[in-house]
Amino acid sequence: MDFQTSAPYTSAVDPRSRYATWVEVDLAAIEGNTRALVSMTDARLMAVVKANGYGHGAIESARAAARGGATWFGVGRPEEALELRDSGLDQPILVLSPAPKDTLEQLVARDVSITVCDEGQIAAAAEAAQSQGSKAKTHLKLDTGMSRLGAALGDAESVARSLHEHDAILFEGIFTHFARADEPEAQTSREQLKQFEDVLAQLGAAQLRPPIVHAANSAAVFALKEAHFDMVRVGIALYGLQPSAQWSLPEEFRPALQWKSRLARVRNLSAGTGVSYGHRYVTEDEERIGTVPVGYADGLRRTEGNQVLVGARHVPVVGRVCMDLSMVQLDTVPEAEAGDEVVLIGNQGGAVISAEQVADRWGTINYEVICGIDRRVPRLVG
Ligand SMILES: *Cc1c(COP(=O)(O)O)cnc(C)c1O
Repeated sequence: MDFQTSAPYTSAVDPRSRYATWVEVDLAAIEGNTRALVSMTDARLMAVVKANGYGHGAIESARAAARGGATWFGVGRPEEALELRDSGLDQPILVLSPAPKDTLEQLVARDVSITVCDEGQIAAAAEAAQSQGSKAKTHLKLDTGMSRLGAALGDAESVARSLHEHDAILFEGIFTHFARADEPEAQTSREQLKQFEDVLAQLGAAQLRPPIVHAANSAAVFALKEAHFDMVRVGIALYGLQPSAQWSLPEEFRPALQWKSRLARVRNLSAGTGVSYGHRYVTEDEERIGTVPVGYADGLRRTEGNQVLVGARHVPVVGRVCMDLSMVQLDTVPEAEAGDEVVLIGNQGGAVISAEQVADRWGTINYEVICGIDRRVPRLVG
């Protein structure tokens, strides 16, 4: 695998040797996952690359998804859209939440589509576009049951009318978001879908329906085919990760991310030796303890029960996780020595730690695990 990173390096040396800890991103996996998703729907595919591409690197992930057939890109913040534009991506980009007012001019100037939910946001978008003699591309967000953002159903027609009538606005799309698409029981999603369809019918009758209707996230791509409409917005599945415990991805999907490090030191400690802050771990016998240069500042949670792979075996993290470092108990891998690879997420000689397993251990979801890998951990793409 050929590794590149946005951090400059000049030597021909494997860049992995330059870092204490790093993330390896398999772009071919993202491309292949995207292709698999494209084949599952007649709708166009928006690759959601917010939060640095769910921790995978936004620019490289977007390019890989584009190679796999994504034609739209979704982000959460204006600066994420601008970063993609600066990288040369010239395909449509939508900021999925309403953007702060002072960013609107720039978004319009860079041809980024913006989300609006109410008259105030519409007026601000129109003003930003007017000031430069252009049009703001807008998507109207509807709240069908997430209770987060979006126009109320009762306001949909009047808001749509004002989008339609503004000279400085191009009413490009309308969308909603499911609250429970990741659960096996689809009742809530069906109710949301019904509300959404009612509004679409109402807008259709009033000649106000915009060209691009979208609703489905990854889970809904699999669970709710009738919600694909004109475009699906896919995040987690692009990266080869499970949309939820109930919706396992088909076999052809592959996780793209691995998180690795290397043992910095290995030592035999005599019985009764305290390890790390607070000596929360004390050796019972003579034990082989390794030091790994990964800590909570990198995104390894400061909780008990962490495990990593060393020598293709699962070994426990012992004692407190520090900011930059943590310790592992290596009695089951006596041959381990300084310099050996450590896998926090990924594969090693047939052993696997998935983002889902880490999420279970931490009582959270895979999304939070991968988004929680700090920016200081370089993303090496291959
Ligand atoms: C993040 C996001 C998505 C992608 O969700 P996944 O579950 O990762 O597929 C889709 N739509 C909106 C509005 C989002 O914010």
